[in-house]
Amino acid sequence: MKKLYLQTFGCQMNERDSEGVQGLLLDRGFETTSTIEEADLILYNTCSVRDHAEQKVFGRMGHFRKLKQINPNLIVGIVGCMAQEHGGNFFKKNPEIDLVCGPGNLNQIPDLVEEIRLQRAPRLAIDRLNEEYSLENVHHRSGELKGLVTIMTGCDHRCTYCIVPYTRGDERSRNSENIIKEMRDLEAKGFKDVMLLGQNVNSYGKGLEESIDFAGLLEKIQKETPGIPRLRFITSHPKDAHTRLFTAMRDLPMVCEHMHLPVQSGSNRTLRRMKREHTREWYLEQIEEYRKLVPDGTLTTDFIVGFPGETEKDFLDTLEFIERIEFDSAFIFQYSPRPGTPALKLEDDVTPQEKSRRHQILLAAQKAASLKRNQALIGRTEEVLFESRSKRDEMRFVGRTRGYKRVVVSAERDIIGEFHQAKILSVADETLLGEIAGQ
Ligand code: SF4
Repeated sequence: MKKLYLQTFGCQMNERDSEGVQGLLLDRGFETTSTIEEADLILYNTCSVRDHAEQKVFGRMGHFRKLKQINPNLIVGIVGCMAQEHGGNFFKKNPEIDLVCGPGNLNQIPDLVEEIRLQRAPRLAIDRLNEEYSLENVHHRSGELKGLVTIMTGCDHRCTYCIVPYTRGDERSRNSENIIKEMRDLEAKGFKDVMLLGQNVNSYGKGLEESIDFAGLLEKIQKETPGIPRLRFITSHPKDAHTRLFTAMRDLPMVCEHMHLPVQSGSNRTLRRMKREHTREWYLEQIEEYRKLVPDGTLTTDFIVGFPGETEKDFLDTLEFIERIEFDSAFIFQYSPRPGTPALKLEDDVTPQEKSRRHQILLAAQKAASLKRNQALIGRTEEVLFESRSKRDEMRFVGRTRGYKRVVVSAERDIIGEFHQAKILSVADETLLGEIAGQ
């Protein structure tokens, strides 16, 4: 049996893409290995969002050379966003690479690998950037509890710091019937928590012949596959968030009360320079509406600190935003210049020291806000789906609330895959410590 070593970098959409590619190769007689030295085929599914993610992959090139000295028939492929971004240049810089395949060409991988094996010549496949979803009807799953479903790919926004539209293309929504087919497969396999994926799920439906929007898709999934207990979605753009979506989150039982709504900055000046197409006031209105319609809903976000031209005032506007909104949690990144993005033309004038100083201050403010939001749950009982054992104590189990809060409890038996009501007793960092109600 030929052995496949597949490593995924980056977002959940990459995870789902890797799962699909793995399924296609298993159908062609491969088996997976977690030992890279054993592999006949190595695939890296890559991420271009930040320079750090790219350097991790470039740093591995030397290793491929050594592995090929041991196994000259080894095939090495770079897949995903870095493949689309760098294309054929990969071969020039790294002769040990045999395959460069973009996110739009994933379904071609088994044939491309066979061609490479037979002809020992590299293959480049990056010509389907704006074509329909490449893993349609690939239902392979590597897990059995939590499932990922891509509902659309690409993005029509053009945030100045973002490379995604150039590696994932323009927005293309999948036909809702194909999504329902995939949801039925997950329902039949007993999946308990499904995450719908897209760079901007809120604009789902644009460009489809059928007239349907994202809230309409949620309603359809609720009606067609009611056997799936939990439904989530990521990522939303504030400009396309609205009452209809929040109402669907309130009224549809399977839709979990967690909203991830990246804002990136609390300064209107920076939002304009990022081309986020909305103001801080607009964002605040959406948050007020969400919290009115989904009072127990949780809210998380993303911030970029140190964007070119960010003044002390811009930074303080962002700090004030964090303190005012009290997000349940936030991913806060230092600005990282990306090739081919409009922001690259702006002088990266916030020094690394200043970026780091501002970063630490925002992290501390967010930590205080998260703690306050979590402490407010002490004494309450939350429904938790248990997913794994604690790394430190095998009789302690880790799960997630509907609000995506991490909860740890003790149990006398294995409760992975089960729903339990958990009483929240205390908070440790971003984790809720509890006990199973009635135990
Ligand atoms: S909305 Fe902006 S940040 Fe998000 S993927 Fe699209 S261009 Fe990138």
